[in-house]
Amino acid sequence: RAKGDGGQRMCFFEESMDKALQRRRTVEHELRLALGREEFEVVYQPQYDLTSESQSGSEALIRWHHPVHGKIAPGHFISVAEETGLIVPIGEWVLRRACMDAATWPETLSVAVNLSPAQFRDSDIAETVAEVLKETGLPANRLELEITESLLINDTEEVLTKLNRLRDLGVAIAMDDFGTGYSSLSYLARFPFSKIKIDRQFIRNMTRDPAMRAIVKTIIALGKSLDVTITAEGVETPEQAEMLRKFGCRQVQGFLYGYPEAAQTNAQPKETADGKVTPIRGRRSSA
Ligand code: C2E
Ligand code: MG
Ligand code: MG
Ligand code: MG
Repeated sequence: RAKGDGGQRMCFFEESMDKALQRRRTVEHELRLALGREEFEVVYQPQYDLTSESQSGSEALIRWHHPVHGKIAPGHFISVAEETGLIVPIGEWVLRRACMDAATWPETLSVAVNLSPAQFRDSDIAETVAEVLKETGLPANRLELEITESLLINDTEEVLTKLNRLRDLGVAIAMDDFGTGYSSLSYLARFPFSKIKIDRQFIRNMTRDPAMRAIVKTIIALGKSLDVTITAEGVETPEQAEMLRKFGCRQVQGFLYGYPEAAQTNAQPKETADGKVTPIRGRRSSA
């Protein structure tokens, strides 16, 4: 580029900022409409217990079926929903949907629902959870709520009170993405967690990086001494699974065990004209 372009570049920069802002406004506007238009879906990813060698439950994950852009992963819209407060109604919708679905599953299976900090800040989350459990008939001990470390940075007294109220309902509280936020081990003593989920970035590198391996091994040992279930996220290979088993990890979740999938329905398998049966399950709904 020729020199003396500075002004133009500045202009280009401003235009792209403007565009980004516009896109955010569009997403916000479309998110507002999405709930009423039933564009959201909850998909479920299995969680396996390595001790019993069986599925212990599933994590509920939101998907947005945009009328123009198709299926959108939460990474592309959750932050806008959080900044605009829309996560409160959207999160409540996910919670209700997940509890309704889980109430139809075998009673050995639990459901884990992700909660945003805004749902603690801007709503009476314990009240909402109590209501939804009552409404759907799901026993409290089959619901788990996943929170992240970012929740614990501010207003810890108020958050602690709400977490304790949730715990008193009989709901399990899991610390999600452990090790990625402003981790402080003192949180683990102060808050009533029943589960810690090791973030997948540690799992991804553990078989080749000795430091990552040491961290994973240590978190698992810590879980044992605190009597907290440890779940490894993002398990993709048999080598990772083998290593986790050796370290005594209780629970695993990841593509090796299953992709997030649409909820199993009570509908019967469809029989086609030539008598072949089409299974309802098995579609990959995300990656
Ligand atoms: P998360 O709670 O840590 O969920 C796990 C994410 O890892 C999911 O991405 C899942 O599809 C992905 N994953 C699972 N196994 C593997 C694997 O083996 N390899 C890889 N590469 N990825 C794997 P997803 O569904 O795109 O969700 C991303 C994040 O969005 C979630 O992370 C959670 O923080 C947030 N989220 C999803 N649904 C909700 C919701 O209903 N409410 C709120 N507040 N947040 C949600
Ligand atoms: Mg989660
Ligand atoms: Mg996670
Ligand atoms: Mg995450």
